[in-house]
Amino acid sequence: MKVLVSSCLLGEDVRYDGNNSSIAMGASFTFSQKEIFMDILCDNEIYSFCPEVSAGLGTPRLPAEIVSANKPFKVETNNEEDVTIPFLIGAKNALDTCKNDDIKVALLKSKSPSCGNLKIYDGTFSNTLVDGQGLTAKLLEENDVKVFNETQLEELKKFIETN
Ligand code: SF4
Repeated sequence: MKVLVSSCLLGEDVRYDGNNSSIAMGASFTFSQKEIFMDILCDNEIYSFCPEVSAGLGTPRLPAEIVSANKPFKVETNNEEDVTIPFLIGAKNALDTCKNDDIKVALLKSKSPSCGNLKIYDGTFSNTLVDGQGLTAKLLEENDVKVFNETQLEELKKFIETN
């Protein structure tokens, strides 16, 4: 199956802080999680994608949070620069990739204002999580692309096996 994967989860240094969130090499993942992840990588067609970099944002860049999670969306950096448009472009780029390549499932990085699928930071830069989705995860799910995060590898594996 074709799977869109957040580039940072694959070890690419595209995060805002210039680092990655590698599952395979990350100390916060168990051996079992790494095994499942490697199975998914080896048995499927992987499309590495970073919405923010695809929209032209540099690495490193200032951290950003969603200030308004409903239309009109608003995403700001921690110095109050409005970066809503590049975040929307990144989401659209991800959806275009899924549509063009008939990708029906994505593994995206949790808690990101682009990629988070269940929780996001609340827009106050106080490390406070709330229920919600990043702009890319939201747009993909609205267009029937099933989104999982890196804590849901078992669920992703089952989805792939049954679809
Ligand atoms: S936008 Fe997504 S893929 Fe890019 S660094 Fe952030 S979480 Fe990772």
